[in-house]
Amino acid sequence: MHPLICRASDARMTIALLGIPHDCNSSFLRGAAQAPVAIREALHSHSANLASETGHDLGDPALLRDAGDLAVQDLAGEAAFDAIRTGVSAALDSGCGLVILGGDHSISHPAILAHAARHPGLSVLHFDAHPDIYADFEGNPFSHASPFARVLESGQLARLVQVGIRTATAHLREQAMRYGVEQHCMTDLSGLPTIAFDGPVYVSIDLDALDPGFAPGVSHHEPGGLATRQIIELIQRVPGRVIGGDVVEYNPARDINGMTAMVAAKLAKELAGRMLDDRTG
Ligand code: MN
Ligand code: MN
Repeated sequence: MHPLICRASDARMTIALLGIPHDCNSSFLRGAAQAPVAIREALHSHSANLASETGHDLGDPALLRDAGDLAVQDLAGEAAFDAIRTGVSAALDSGCGLVILGGDHSISHPAILAHAARHPGLSVLHFDAHPDIYADFEGNPFSHASPFARVLESGQLARLVQVGIRTATAHLREQAMRYGVEQHCMTDLSGLPTIAFDGPVYVSIDLDALDPGFAPGVSHHEPGGLATRQIIELIQRVPGRVIGGDVVEYNPARDINGMTAMVAAKLAKELAGRMLDDRTG
């Protein structure tokens, strides 16, 4: 399942890509399970290179390896959750930091719990148009609209900080109050929000945080979103120690000329670069 797990000797300096092709918990459209292969194609496209803006040549296998995909396409419910948490935990055993390629956003629930088990005091920086804290959605507690409700219920997060929110219903506002979620909504954003962390941070990027003009290849088009540059800037500069993250909700069936795949690849590169900085700094 993980053909290129790091050797122990160089794991401290290595990031691994891990695909989680799973979209059974999508409430509107399927398609995100096809994302990992498309994002990898974009990463290796001859139209670009593998340098992060911050100076890491991720074409060097000592810096970025590919741990393959978890075989979870055909699993649902608790079985998928268990397989994802176990698979992420096994990948972390190698000592690599992980940049996870979803999949719909439901995969972040088990992925974050696997990271929280190793990083006490973990916080999450979450980019999304949606808060994803429904108590359950259409009767499904594993829905991609609920992963952060489940993670917060576990009591294992220090903080959940959300950026890009522009769809909060009365229920979602109540849930945010109940769990102490820190939300930076689009109505409040003038330039970049001031966000800082003290300890370990997992960055979860739902591509629909971006304005659909920047990222049309998502299932839920929610106008009025972030610019690509705003997310990159926070990834590169937010105070804290970034230990892992995911890029989720890319839906190739909705994309135009693969442009959103390139956005996903770009964000994955900058996330990997930031993690490398924080592993050596
Ligand atoms: Mn989401
Ligand atoms: Mn979303």
